[in-house]
Amino acid sequence: MSRPFCRKCLMEGVSMEELQAKIEAYLDAMPQDLRTSPEAYEARLLICEECPNLSNGLCKLCGCFVLYRAGQKNQTCPDTIARW
Ligand code: SF4
Repeated sequence: MSRPFCRKCLMEGVSMEELQAKIEAYLDAMPQDLRTSPEAYEARLLICEECPNLSNGLCKLCGCFVLYRAGQKNQTCPDTIARW
């Protein structure tokens, strides 16, 4: 049985700036109707910044890069009581 991969390990050697640029390029390539509005995206990220579950850009609850998760309109915060 194979082990699940670690997203953080896959990005070893990639700076936070490079990672952010890659995620934003990926989000920019998505159909606009699937994207979170710029205002909502900013609001979501502000909430993540203050959240104790944020660790080096990753959400400890779901393992997602919060930049990516927050950028998708149909996603929600995975906390028991969603923070956004
Ligand atoms: S997605 Fe939710 S639980 Fe995860 S870091 Fe952001 S606010 Fe916290």
